[in-house]
Amino acid sequence: MDQAMSNVARAVESGATTIRGIVDATGLSRLKVERALHALEKQKLLLRDSRGFTAPGMLATPQVRQCGSCSRCCTLLEVTEVGKSVNEWCKHCDVDKGCTIYDDRPQMCRSFNCAWLQGHLADEWFPERARMVVHFSQDAVNVQVDPGYPDRWRQEPYFSKLCEWSLNGIRMNGNRSYATLIVSGPDKFLLLGRTIVPEPTLFGTAFLPVAAETFRYWKARSPEHLHRLYGRITEIQRIQQEFGYCAIPDDDDPYPPYRPALLRLSNHPHAESDAESA
Ligand code: SF4
Ligand code: SF4
Repeated sequence: MDQAMSNVARAVESGATTIRGIVDATGLSRLKVERALHALEKQKLLLRDSRGFTAPGMLATPQVRQCGSCSRCCTLLEVTEVGKSVNEWCKHCDVDKGCTIYDDRPQMCRSFNCAWLQGHLADEWFPERARMVVHFSQDAVNVQVDPGYPDRWRQEPYFSKLCEWSLNGIRMNGNRSYATLIVSGPDKFLLLGRTIVPEPTLFGTAFLPVAAETFRYWKARSPEHLHRLYGRITEIQRIQQEFGYCAIPDDDDPYPPYRPALLRLSNHPHAESDAESA
């Protein structure tokens, strides 16, 4: 996906439903927006219907909401265009009046709509009350947690909703799958259903379901490592299908061939002969 497509998809996920709205949100020319929309529709990454454009996978009945007394995104999120870092008040934010440069606020601020504002979340997620800002990017649901309430996301009803989103993101295939990422102060987490992965690496996390909502995971240290981890997971699933059971190894640095070691670890009665003939 090129940069224009990525920007257009992000604008639609942030609530833009018309070409005009997407042009305003992205700053791209109308021609570039139309080309990107066409490509995204072709790849089924966007839908066009009577209400305009929508991003599949994150759909919910949109509700009309107003930010009202909230200014959480002006404190929790990074806004490079005004030199604002994460978890720091924007110098243009007045606690009583809101944005003091509203008419001239940067493009990033104009196009930002959190998931609550878009109507994807129930009232208890109002960011000022929840102390979290949930927003979508191309391949993730991002949860930025107020560092003054670092464990808020682990509490109910928030945690169950995040688990539900995480499982939905995992079950979607190909381009439409997404990760659920939580940032709380200096800590980062990836959610795999009810399994919490602390400090996920940039190279990815290989995972395998072990129960309905929990996963065994291994964090990758390089693209090659991720490839090997998934190679072994594929073999585990193959053995599970063939024999109904496969032990899940503890070590996190597998090398092929995976099958003999897995069969031995599983104490499969025909492990040696099966492995030799494999
Ligand atoms: S966090 Fe959401 S509701 Fe709050 S000000 Fe930002 S966009 Fe509006
Ligand atoms: S410029 Fe305005 S809208 Fe943007 S972060 Fe600052 S206060 Fe918020």
